[in-house]
Amino acid sequence: MRAVLLEQHGPTDALKVVSDFPVPEPGTGEVRIRVRAAALNRLDIWVRNGWPGIKLPLPHIPGADAAGDIDKLGEGVVGWNVGDRVVIDPGISCGHCEFCRSGHENLCPEFKIMGEDIRGTNAEYIVISVRNLLKLPDHISYAEAAAASLVYLTAWHSLITRGALRAGESVLIVGAGGGVNTASIQIAKLAGAKVYVVGSDAAKLAHAKSLGADELIDRTAEDWSKAIFARTNRQGVDVVVDNVGKETLFGSIRSVKRGGRILIVGNTSGPFEGKLKPVIGATFPLEQVAQAHLALEKGDIVGKVVLEI
Ligand code: ZN
Repeated sequence: MRAVLLEQHGPTDALKVVSDFPVPEPGTGEVRIRVRAAALNRLDIWVRNGWPGIKLPLPHIPGADAAGDIDKLGEGVVGWNVGDRVVIDPGISCGHCEFCRSGHENLCPEFKIMGEDIRGTNAEYIVISVRNLLKLPDHISYAEAAAASLVYLTAWHSLITRGALRAGESVLIVGAGGGVNTASIQIAKLAGAKVYVVGSDAAKLAHAKSLGADELIDRTAEDWSKAIFARTNRQGVDVVVDNVGKETLFGSIRSVKRGGRILIVGNTSGPFEGKLKPVIGATFPLEQVAQAHLALEKGDIVGKVVLEI
């Protein structure tokens, strides 16, 4: 099968596209998926570059997000059929520990993410547990579904599951671009919150507005935490979403209301009812995976970068 292989860590020329990688066989409780679209995440760049102490079996196949059709059923699989359109949840867990049984799969001691800790989705075929499948309605394209999964799961888990965001609250999202931020704007609006977005790029701020942001703050023009203070009757916001970190955390602390919540985004489901619209910035064929990485790395694309396979 065709697959993107990472044979060593490094810049984009470390990414090789091969056509003779063995097609994987589904085990008990697993299915094989013919992947149609795989979206890129910043995670793919971190993994490609590597980090001190990384011990990833090479060659690695990058990619967390995927959507496609079930191609083969493993032993014991019921309720799914060959040809079903599906999107995957890229978080792999054991399924039987106390955390998995209580719905906190992301806390499973064996938790892994496709494409980060194990081989991922930038290939014609993948195998995955049926526990990680979501049925894809006909009106959602493979590219949209692949673009949604990791970032929307992350944003939903942060704002709704952990952040307990309620209608009428105010939310500040630090950063106007990026997959998780664009997902967070839409989810916060869907939850009935007032949404402030701070950014530095006019086009990204305008896009945030088109996604529903109520108030925009250009951090190149004003001190953003002071601006939040001024615009909230000197109270601050109920919830801050900060997935930048060191550079912005002090400003986030200054922007949050007394007793409010600051959400620092990690990794982690929301229904597909057509109310959340994944934003696709660019699509590339699998063979142009290096160009796709470069486009994401440059950071001037609003929305997701998607590989069509
Ligand atoms: Zn577990």
